Amino acid sequence: MGRSLRERTSKLEALWDRPAYRMRRFNLTAEPGEHPCWAGFKSMMRDTDRCKGWQRSYVPKGQKQSFYNTGASRSSNFTLEDVVADQINVWLEENSTDVHRDVAVKAAEIYTNALGAVELKPTEDTASWMEQECKVMGQMPFMYSCSNKINVLVQKCGFDNAFVMSNDYLVNYPAPVNNKSEPNNDIIFYLCTEMVDGNPNPYALANTFAHELAHVIQGGFGHSSGVMMEGGATWLEGNLLNLAPRPMIFAWGFRDWNRINAAHIYAETKQTNARKLLGRAGTGGWHPALLALEKRDSQ
Ligand SMILES: [Zn+2]
Repeated sequence: MGRSLRERTSKLEALWDRPAYRMRRFNLTAEPGEHPCWAGFKSMMRDTDRCKGWQRSYVPKGQKQSFYNTGASRSSNFTLEDVVADQINVWLEENSTDVHRDVAVKAAEIYTNALGAVELKPTEDTASWMEQECKVMGQMPFMYSCSNKINVLVQKCGFDNAFVMSNDYLVNYPAPVNNKSEPNNDIIFYLCTEMVDGNPNPYALANTFAHELAHVIQGGFGHSSGVMMEGGATWLEGNLLNLAPRPMIFAWGFRDWNRINAAHIYAETKQTNARKLLGRAGTGGWHPALLALEKRDSQ
């Protein structure tokens, strides 16, 4: 007998209804009102042995915690500056500025729609970009991190970027993180202060939040390919969040409509066109998330 219908249906569901697939695979149920990004977290902790009773905890707001700065490759002290919408821990490395903090916190508020702005609801029945992202792409990978917070590490990298590394929370894959794991073995989004300096618009950064967290979610479905990871995250930034469509190019898009129009008529120089496809100077032609994965994998 070949593959059962159930098995094939299950694989299809992994594509078409990722939250349901995720729930069934880990035997989870959503509580009424549980946020789509964490749907099943409470039942996982209460009803399953997945995390062996351990849940990641954090220092109180205003206090410090040591993390590894993966941009500059050094251990560093970070202060928990804010917990936005009870879901996003914003950590600032020492020597960061008020602008770094304000822009990072505002971006988290836009992404979670903490103020309930109508303009930030992708659909009538979806409260935020974050919610829409998880409804369609799946929950945050809490079944690997045993935590229910996103951690933004605002850090000086020595380069201008933002990135995530799925090995952070897949460190014990297929088992989850445990009480012996490092603080970085969590749901972490690395935000270089250089990127905030280069473009302190919190909406642009919120868009980057959405993009990088799409990679975090994708990583929760196992080690993933670049095309699926980048294609999905780029599609999310335009159509899925009901924002201006973003060109489906590899890795880097366009900051404004002039660049998008230029892409459509394709009248730029050969060098500029190459950069659209291969990334910005300084990243070696690779998207930072892939670069970080490669970097980590080669260590
Ligand atoms: Zn990306």
